[in-house]
Amino acid sequence: MSQSPVPWFDDFLGVAYRYYDLRMNVVPLFSDRKEATNLWIESLHWWVDPSIKIRFVESGDEYWFVMGSESQKPDSNLSFFKKLAKSDNYERFKKGHGGEAYLRLGVYLKQTLSEAKKNAMCNCGHIADDHDEGDDDVCLYNTCECKKFSSFQITLLKKKKTVTNILFLDEKDVKEDPLAWNCLYVNKYSKTD
Ligand SMILES: [Zn+2]
Ligand SMILES: [Zn+2]
Repeated sequence: MSQSPVPWFDDFLGVAYRYYDLRMNVVPLFSDRKEATNLWIESLHWWVDPSIKIRFVESGDEYWFVMGSESQKPDSNLSFFKKLAKSDNYERFKKGHGGEAYLRLGVYLKQTLSEAKKNAMCNCGHIADDHDEGDDDVCLYNTCECKKFSSFQITLLKKKKTVTNILFLDEKDVKEDPLAWNCLYVNKYSKTD
């Protein structure tokens, strides 16, 4: 199996799945807006929409996010991958995407209790207002073990690409798809012996 000349890139935080503009959005996340913007300008902007492929390679409770495309500027092209835990949003996307999605980049911002709005949701499932600002941000619900409010906000960048080539597959069938196979071969199988 020959190696793709397009480098594999996984230096991002994860992937969010959001409804926005009446369509599901697949949103690779970055902590820094400038970094995301630059990456878009240098690589993703040059992708040829009909050639963009997104693959989800499932393995138990985890999946590999795999994304690549032909580019009008092959020299700066990148293919993306990230091994992630399945989530409710992921399952919702899997059921609801209908064969099409927008690709956007997103900026992931952690919020402290003082930055969050009163009704912002903590990762424990209770809103900001249910946390005690005077006592190390603990959750006030007796049954809750949350000791510190933590929440996040995702900002979607405006630029987008339309993706129509989306495939979910099981890891045991990964050889059936050239992009997914190349990804796992380069980033997993060739590294373990
Ligand atoms: Zn909490
Ligand atoms: Zn709580």
